Amino acid sequence: MPHERPEPQFKTIIEPFRIKSVEPIRYTTRAQRARALEAAGYNLFRLHASDVLIDLLTDSGTGAMSSEQWAAMMRGDESYAGSRSFDRFEAAVKGITGLKHIFPTHQGRAAERILCGVALKRGDVVPNNTHFDTTRANIEAVGAEALDLPIAEARQPEALHPFKGNLDVPALRALLTSRREQVPLVMLTVTNNSGGGQPVSLANVREVSAVCREFGVPLFLDCCRYAENAYFIKLREPGYAERTPREIAQEMFSYVDGATMSAKKDGMANIGGFLAMNDDVMAQAAQNLLILGEGFPTYGGLAGYDLDALAVGFQEALEEPYLQYRLRSIEYLGERLLQANIPIIQPTGGHAVYIDAGKLLPHLPAREYPAWALSCVLYLEGGVRSVEIGSVMFGRQPDGSERPAPLELVRLAFPRRTYTQSHVDYLAEVLLHVGSLRERVRGLRIVEAPPLLRHFTARLEPVEQSLLA
Ligand SMILES: *Cc1c(COP(=O)(O)O)cnc(C)c1O
Repeated sequence: MPHERPEPQFKTIIEPFRIKSVEPIRYTTRAQRARALEAAGYNLFRLHASDVLIDLLTDSGTGAMSSEQWAAMMRGDESYAGSRSFDRFEAAVKGITGLKHIFPTHQGRAAERILCGVALKRGDVVPNNTHFDTTRANIEAVGAEALDLPIAEARQPEALHPFKGNLDVPALRALLTSRREQVPLVMLTVTNNSGGGQPVSLANVREVSAVCREFGVPLFLDCCRYAENAYFIKLREPGYAERTPREIAQEMFSYVDGATMSAKKDGMANIGGFLAMNDDVMAQAAQNLLILGEGFPTYGGLAGYDLDALAVGFQEALEEPYLQYRLRSIEYLGERLLQANIPIIQPTGGHAVYIDAGKLLPHLPAREYPAWALSCVLYLEGGVRSVEIGSVMFGRQPDGSERPAPLELVRLAFPRRTYTQSHVDYLAEVLLHVGSLRERVRGLRIVEAPPLLRHFTARLEPVEQSLLA
């Protein structure tokens, strides 16, 4: 045997793929963007995507599929019932979750709707670390209460906690001690999307599960970002450094009784989702609702080829080089912003960087929507589309009054496998430039808005002549 030299160690983390198909992005001038913004009523949701250079509106369904996924789509079996595509999809989901009944749905909220339809009634309470907005809406739609029980650190933007997505276990125990009959299920969202994409530790999943078992309440995982969460556990939780993301995900699912999934996230596809559970009686009821609203149980609102793309995607999401590249891209942008004193939610989460616009623009009161203003200026100056998570999105109360959101945030969400290092460098440059203009940024007022979910369609205008003084 010749003497083997040690493997050289290189520090640069590269995109673990090469590009096989490209989609041009279109440059616009600042003047063109100013016109587009005005025509869109200063609402980035109303822009034409072709007027956007880098689109970080959401990481949901916006990623790139792999050549293996496209190849799998050609194998799609479009049989109405019992297709081979379903068998592959089901095997992939069972291989990771170990759950017994797997129902495909067209996206995450369809799974939530079915779960709420079979498990909840008026007056019930469903705790979660933090409910995602569609989950909350589905729970409230059946007259139940969606209760957020995050740990205290989750509410502090700069608190450095490795698992800021954790659920407050003593608070859960207190709730179950006093109101057990009103709690038909407990949910846990990994990663905690609405809490900044922060991970949940396996220790927390285990503790939440133990409390649920003690009180006899089923635990459901909102597992949209199960792979990112598993990788955070590998990086941060003692005892897991040598385990694969797949093994960690399997352990995570071993503590739960069911799951809802938007496969537009860690399913690595453009559409899809599932509802999974162990309980046979609940599964029978869920199957009935699935047929009513989605389709036959072996396709559930998806084409056979979608199921095949997902069967591959669920595995690819757990590949370490991919997860390392993804989390590192986001962390890298966060580091560049912190160096330039642009305040963000720390530590950076799995799918997005959240800028604390309230802190960056202290001269703007909440009624002038600082985070909305910042997102408009990011587009105006650099062609970057982000999303406001602040008082336009959350400020209107059910009785029609206004109340400032707890935080004024701008979220930059990264589509999966879509942008490269140089895109991230460009983003950092745009953000630093906008940061240097911070004192000149002016607020907006709402001109017209619907009563519900107004951020999608509202029209606004600058309170002064323009967005920048
Ligand atoms: C996206 C998302 C959902 C809803 O999924 P859709 O596919 O958009 O319907 C539910 N929960 C979380 C945590 C999400 O991120």
